[in-house]
Amino acid sequence: MSSSYGGTSAFERLRARLDGRPRTCEECGFVDDGEWEAATSGATVEYRRECSSCGTEQIRRYRL
Ligand SMILES: [Zn+2]
Repeated sequence: MSSSYGGTSAFERLRARLDGRPRTCEECGFVDDGEWEAATSGATVEYRRECSSCGTEQIRRYRL
C-alpha cells in the first residue's frame, strides 16, 4: 500500500467531487443543499443523501 497521496485521501477527493455537483434530485428535480453522508466498508465508499422534497434516497458508490 502506498502512503497518502499529496496529503489528500481518495476519500476526500471523492467527496469534493460530489460537493462540486448540483444536488438535484433525480426523481423530482428539487435542488437543496443537503450534505452527502459517507459510509465506508474499506474497499468501497458509499455516499447517500435524502431529497428533502420527495424523500428519495440517492446513493453514489465508489471503489477506494
Ligand atoms: Zn426529490
